[in-house]
Amino acid sequence: MKKSDYQNMWVYIEHDGRTAAPVGLELCCELRKLCDQTGDRLFAVVLGELPESELDKVKDCGIDGIIRVSGTGYEYFNTDAWAKAFTVLSRKYNPSAIFVGGTIDGRDFAPRFAVQLETGCTSDAMELGWDAETGDIQFIEPAVGGKIMAVITVPALRPQVGTIRPGTFPCAPVGAKQEIERIEERIDFDPEKIRCRHLGFIPDESDPELDIANADCIVCVGNGLKDSEHLERYRTLAKLLGGKLGCTRPLYDRGILPYKLQIGQSGVMVKPKLYISFGVSGAVNHTAGVDADVFVAVGKNPEAQIFNYCDYGIVGDMDEVCDEMIAQIKALRQ
Ligand SMILES: Cc1cc2nc3c(=O)[nH]c(=O)nc-3n(C[C@H](O)[C@H](O)[C@H](O)COP(=O)(O)OP(=O)(O)OC[C@H]3O[C@@H](n4cnc5c(N)ncnc54)[C@H](O)[C@@H]3O)c2cc1C
Repeated sequence: MKKSDYQNMWVYIEHDGRTAAPVGLELCCELRKLCDQTGDRLFAVVLGELPESELDKVKDCGIDGIIRVSGTGYEYFNTDAWAKAFTVLSRKYNPSAIFVGGTIDGRDFAPRFAVQLETGCTSDAMELGWDAETGDIQFIEPAVGGKIMAVITVPALRPQVGTIRPGTFPCAPVGAKQEIERIEERIDFDPEKIRCRHLGFIPDESDPELDIANADCIVCVGNGLKDSEHLERYRTLAKLLGGKLGCTRPLYDRGILPYKLQIGQSGVMVKPKLYISFGVSGAVNHTAGVDADVFVAVGKNPEAQIFNYCDYGIVGDMDEVCDEMIAQIKALRQ
C-alpha cells in the first residue's frame, strides 16, 4: 500500500468506565486543527463502555466520527487486548495516524500495537506539525539533553503512532459537528490469554499539594538546591504567594521531592500565572513544560539558558534571594 492509501487520524479516548480522561479530549482538540490542515477526518476510538454524556464531551472537540469497540477482554485495562484491538482496527481502516495519551496505560500499549503493525511510534512530542510535501506529521520534541528541538517523522511507514503527555495541549472544544459517523466494532480477546491479572484498585493518595498542573503560582526549585534542609524556605514562599512547590528532574533523581512535582517534558505540564524558578539552568526538557504568564528566574550563573526564557531575571544566591522575597512580602503585608 502507498502512504496516500492511509487516511484519517485517530485519537484513543482513555477512560475508567465512568469518565473520559482529559488527555483524550486535549488530543482531539489539537488534532482537529491538524486535520483541518491535512484534510483528514478525525475519529475518536473508545474501547469498552463509556456513558453517552462522556461521549458528548468527546464530540464537542470537533471529531468527525467515533469508533466504538465492544467484546471480551475490556473489563479492565490490559495491554494484550488493547494492542490487539488497535492492530485489528488499523488493518481494517488504515488510518494515517493514531494518537494515544502518554499515560501509564498509553505508553504501555501504543508501542506494542505499533510493533505489531510494523510502524514507528514516537513519544512525548510537545508540538505537532505537518509537511504538506511529504504528507508526514512532524513530532517536535527536545532532544540531545534538551539542547535542540528535534523534528521526528515516520517517512515511509503508516500509521504514524504518537504518544503525547497529558497537559501538552489545551482542551479548547470547538463544538460538536452536526453529523458524526458512528462505527461499532466487535473485537473479542480471550480473557484467558490476558497475561496480567487485575488484583484490585488502590487509588493514588490524593495530596492536593502534589497536584500542580493547574496551580496559579509555582515556586520551582532546581539542582542549585544544596540539600533538603534548604527546602523549607521555598515551601514558605510558595505558601505566602498562595502557590505550590515544583521541581526539576535532578531534585526527583536526588530523592528530595516526589516525581509528581517534576515539571517538564517527562513530568507535569504547568500553566501558572506566576512561575518563579530558583537554581534552574533552563534545559528545554524543563522549560518546554512551562507556559507561564509571568516567568521569574533566580540563579547564580548569568549565562544560564533560563535567563533567555524569563520575563524577569535575578542573578544571585537562590537561598538569599528567596529569604529576601519572603521578608519583603511579609513586610508588605504588615
Ligand atoms: C529525555 C529527557 C527528559 C527530561 N525531562 C525533564 C523534565 O521533565 N524536567 C526536568 O526538569 N528535566 C528533565 N530532563 C533533564 C534536563 O535535561 C536537565 O538536566 C534538568 O532540567 C536540569 O535541572 P536543573 O536546571 O535544576 O539543574 P542544573 O542544570 O544542574 O542547573 C542548576 C542551576 O542552578 C544554579 N545554581 C547552583 N547553585 C546555585 C545557588 N546557590 N544559587 C543560585 N543558583 C545556583 C547553577 O548555576 C545552574 O544554573 C530531561 C532530560 C532528558 C534527556
